[in-house]
Parts: sequence; structure tokens; C-alpha cells
Amino acid sequence: MAQLSDDCFAFGGPMMSVDEAVGLITTRVNAIADLETVALVDADGRVLARDVAAPLPLPPFTNSAVDGYAVRNADLPQSGEHALPVDGRIQAGGLAQAAIKPGHTARIFTGAPMPPEAGTVFMQEDVRIDEAGKVVLPPGLKPGANVRPAGEDIPEGHVALRAGQRLRPQHVALAAALGLMRVDVVRRIRVAVFSTGDELASPGEPRATSQLFDSNRFMLMAMLRRLGCEVSDLGILRDERASLANGLKQVASKHDLILTTGGVSTGEEDHVKAAVESVGSLVLWRMAIKPGRPVAMGIIGGTPLIGLPGNPVASFVTFVHVVRPTALALMGGLPEPLLPIPVRASFSYKKKIGRREYVRVSLRRAEDGALEAVKFPREGAGLLSSLVETDGLVELGEDITKVEPGQGVGFLSYADLL
Ligand code: AMP
Ligand code: MG
Repeated sequence: MAQLSDDCFAFGGPMMSVDEAVGLITTRVNAIADLETVALVDADGRVLARDVAAPLPLPPFTNSAVDGYAVRNADLPQSGEHALPVDGRIQAGGLAQAAIKPGHTARIFTGAPMPPEAGTVFMQEDVRIDEAGKVVLPPGLKPGANVRPAGEDIPEGHVALRAGQRLRPQHVALAAALGLMRVDVVRRIRVAVFSTGDELASPGEPRATSQLFDSNRFMLMAMLRRLGCEVSDLGILRDERASLANGLKQVASKHDLILTTGGVSTGEEDHVKAAVESVGSLVLWRMAIKPGRPVAMGIIGGTPLIGLPGNPVASFVTFVHVVRPTALALMGGLPEPLLPIPVRASFSYKKKIGRREYVRVSLRRAEDGALEAVKFPREGAGLLSSLVETDGLVELGEDITKVEPGQGVGFLSYADLL
């Protein structure tokens, strides 16, 4: 398991910006070193453990990009049409019998290897065949046109995929194109997930009238799985220090990260802090983020712990900014900064300077074609419908104090967050 020092999350300032938080996490968390080899079909979503250098160039041989006629560059018509006899025919997967003769053309198909001496291909749509069966080539084609040179995509020996890359289908495709059957990846990080609170009941269990069903645990487990983590569902811990402490201590040695939700505010019934302190060390990060509230960061027996707030929207937003970079750092993933895309606000909004705020919005196409962000009508951090009925978050930076309709703002799609 990843071993971290007790003070690794200690922080000096009273309020931490989101960027400071992400910076602290990514510099202080050590990546786990355990690797495993997986078949390419199982590689999607995994973090590549080593650089992959191309064992062959891509494409592996020079080939035609179109169906048409190959010629020597010396035979390209300079001005006016030029009729050349056809000599040879090369299909995809086939080979040219011989080098193309001067003053001749060869029938060639997309993906077929270029015959020796041929430099350029005319698309079949751009030529015609005359009565004598010769191919009439138009003038003006540049040497090398419609040819895909060997290695133009990736030269042999170049690093095609970098260690730390979270593999997506396109990376899997590249590995396959290089002929790899397996790749070395970082083993999945193991994350223990607890909810805390006497007011919670698990779905499927009886619910007292003063209880609500635990939704955060299911949201967080789903988010973790999307990040490629192996998740232990550890249920609900009651608001009681000793049982919390016991629960946390038991799982620490078997996991790379412990994640809790609820119980990290400053109320008398918020026992996570005291519980963590009794079995490890804890700091409260007062992040300048809304929705948010304090996030607890701790170490129990060398294993990092993150305590997220209980309100579902606060839990969601702080997951994105604290848990996601921590999980990526633990799995040795390259940083994946979130880049908001510009859209137009259709709403007005006031905010505090010095704090980053996230507004839940839907996107719509305005009459002039621009993408417009429409704010969810209510703001409560407990409203799950606000996450379900919107497309993403408008990010309002620390310097902004207000938004007016028509103003440009940055949008983060939920689809890009994980
Ligand atoms: P807390 O951070 O423990 O003070 O919780 C704040 C509020 O978040 C509580 O009043 C609950 O309504 C809600 N909450 C806490 N934990 C959960 C959970 N696991 N699922 C859904 N809502 C929760
Ligand atoms: Mg609570």
C-alpha cells in the first residue's frame, strides 16, 4: 500500500484555493509501484506503467491513401494532360511484382504498398481512360500526393504511449496497431468507502422516519469505479467516535485510500475528525470552494484518508477537486487538468471574491447558434435533482464577483470530470 507521512497533508493557510489543494496533493502523494500485465481487451481505463516505444513505424510501409493510379514523380504531367499505359495492379495486402516502369502507371488501391520507384497516386475520380486503354492524367498534382509514407504517423522507436497515460479506446487502438497483445499497467488502487451518519439507512434496509437513504456512498463508488479504482463498500458508520475509529483503523492496511462522506463539519455530532485523530493524524482543509465546506485529509497507518462533506452536491464537487487528483496521483496517472470550455451565461449570479464557485447548469443552443448555460433554478447543496437535470458545472474563478446574462463563462461537462 502507499505509505505517506503523518504530516503530508498539513497546510499553513486558513483558506486553500482549489489550485493549491490540487498542487499539494499531486506533489505529496506517492504513486503505488505494483504493476500487472493485462490483455489489450482489458486495458481500457487502466494507467500505463511504462512508456511504449514503437517497435515498428506506423504505417509500417509506404502505401496509397486512395484507389487510383501510381506514377513515378518524373512522369507527373507538368502542363496539359498526359496519357500513360497501365502496367501492374497492386491490391491492399498484395505486393507489386516489379518497380513501376518509366512512362507507365500502375493500378493501385487504398492501403496497397507503393511499388518501387512510384512516388505519387492519382485518385481514380481525377483520371479517365482513353480509347486505347491508357490512363489520362491531369496536370497539377504535387509529387507525393495521396501517398502515406512509412512512419508518417509514428516513426519506429518513438515513444508512442507515455507511462501514466490513462488508457482510452484510442490508446488501445495505437497499442494494437503496434502489434502489442498485452500492456503493463499499474494495479488498480483499492479504495475503502464509508458513509457516516445516524440519519442514514442503506437502500434495501428499513428506514426510520427520521432517516434518509444513503446516496453518497453509491455516487462515490460509481465515480471511483469510473476512475478505475477497486472499491470496498464498507457501509454506514454511526455517529460515534469509537466505532468510527475502529472501522477506519481496520481497513487502513488493506487499502490505498479511505474515503468517507459526512461528519466533517464542526458540529458536535461530526465525529470523523476526532475518530481519525485517535487512530492517525488529521488536518482540515478549508477550501475556498462552493459548494464545499471543509474537506478532511488524514493519514491512518500510512494510508491517506479523505473525508468529504455530507451534502450530496458538496460531496460531488469536492470529489472532483480532491479525490480525483489524489486517486490519479496514487495510480501514477499523468495529471488530467480540467479545462472549462467557453459558453455564454444566460443567468445573473453574485459571488464572493476569493472563492471558486460551481454553478449547476444545462446547455442549450441559443438562436444565434451559441451555446448557452442555463442555471438550475435552485441552489441547495442537498438537491440531487440539480445534478441529474443539468449537464455540468459553470466554473466561476476566484476573481469573479458577478455574472450577467450574455457574459462568457467556463463550462465543465459531467462527462469530462471522470
Ligand atoms: P454532515 O456533513 O454529516 O453534516 O451532513 C450534511 C447533510 O448531508 C446531512 O444532513 C444529510 O442530509 C446529508 N448527507 C450526509 N451523508 C449523506 C449520504 N451518505 N447520503 C445522502 N445524504 C447525506
Ligand atoms: Mg453527519
